[in-house]
Amino acid sequence: MTAPPHEARPAGPGRALPDTQQGMRRRNLSRVMHTVSSEGPLSRAAVASRIGLTRAAVSTLVDELIRSGLLEELGPERPGRVGRPGSALAVSGHGPAGIGAEIGVDHLAVCAVDLRGEVRAKAVRYGTNRGRSPQPAVGELAALVRRVVDEAEAEGLWAAGLAVAVPGLVARDARTVVRAPNLDWHDTDLGALLPTDFPLAVGNEANFGALAELWLGEGTPRDFLHVSAEIGIGAAVVVDGRLLHGTRGFAGELGHVPVRPDGPDCACGGRGCLEQYAGEEAVLRAAGLEPGEDRVGLLAGRAADGDEDVRRALREAGEALGIALTGAVNLLDPEGVVLGGALAGLAPWLLPSLSEELARRTAGPACPVSVSRLGPEGPLLGAAHSVVRAVLDDPAGVAERA
Ligand SMILES: [Zn+2]
Repeated sequence: MTAPPHEARPAGPGRALPDTQQGMRRRNLSRVMHTVSSEGPLSRAAVASRIGLTRAAVSTLVDELIRSGLLEELGPERPGRVGRPGSALAVSGHGPAGIGAEIGVDHLAVCAVDLRGEVRAKAVRYGTNRGRSPQPAVGELAALVRRVVDEAEAEGLWAAGLAVAVPGLVARDARTVVRAPNLDWHDTDLGALLPTDFPLAVGNEANFGALAELWLGEGTPRDFLHVSAEIGIGAAVVVDGRLLHGTRGFAGELGHVPVRPDGPDCACGGRGCLEQYAGEEAVLRAAGLEPGEDRVGLLAGRAADGDEDVRRALREAGEALGIALTGAVNLLDPEGVVLGGALAGLAPWLLPSLSEELARRTAGPACPVSVSRLGPEGPLLGAAHSVVRAVLDDPAGVAERA
């Protein structure tokens, strides 16, 4: 069984490599990369003291990382300091880049993120993908990937891997979309439709959104639930900084948690699922509006203008979210709940009833609910950063492919 996307390549810090000399070297290369990435620019001596290796050992590792194009020297540190001047090390802005892609119901997006975490190229195409067969949609995505990779290469970067976020269930092979109800795709092998010269990993958009929150959010706890919505509602469970995948990789289907067991039929075969009350289209229907393309913009605009029907629909959606989240919070006892994706844009009107419902129903003290700063960008950034993280976790592996 292949590992899921953010763990698709070997050798994360929490993933034990064989305890051989090679394994030790790879682990130490990763420790140097992570240290410079999170705290750099740093001198070799500073890296050595942070990771507890000798300066000579660190120098050998650093030389290897510079040769591979993963680290660069910024030039001598300012003179006047005691001892031989060292050169500050930084993560390279010209080495490998993570390519992230997103297949949304209404858009396709691709971006390239360098090892420093900066978005260096981006392409977006708006237009519905609902009911389109996978082939033309993925063909268009491939053209966007090509364009972004070309732009990145023009800036001296090269693609270390591609991660694709999709609004649906993805098998643990990290390439097959088992079911994406709002695209109407079933058992679609994206690996076959999207051939690339670099590794490909496909993952659920809510999971990538949660990882973005974990890696890029400010003060994000290590144990949290991330809830996001487009037309469907997805959640991701992060426990001690790691995604909970479930046996088949399908954990987090909050949208199909029943809120009212005798409610309307749902496409999943159940009744009264959360999606029937708090999905974007359900909220539009409840407010008496026609679902169009900019659903969140329409709802947020009307709510801000004081439209009572829209405000009531959002209040009721917040209650339904609160009821569904009560089950998850009582079961998992997370440090917090983060609202991302479309929900972030509607938070001012959802949050009061959601928090009230949650506080009223949870057994312990109220679980804090916060709003993601990343909003709809989360899944795309999470996808690109998952590739970047894989490079930091196993720099030797990526250097071998360069
Ligand atoms: Zn359902």
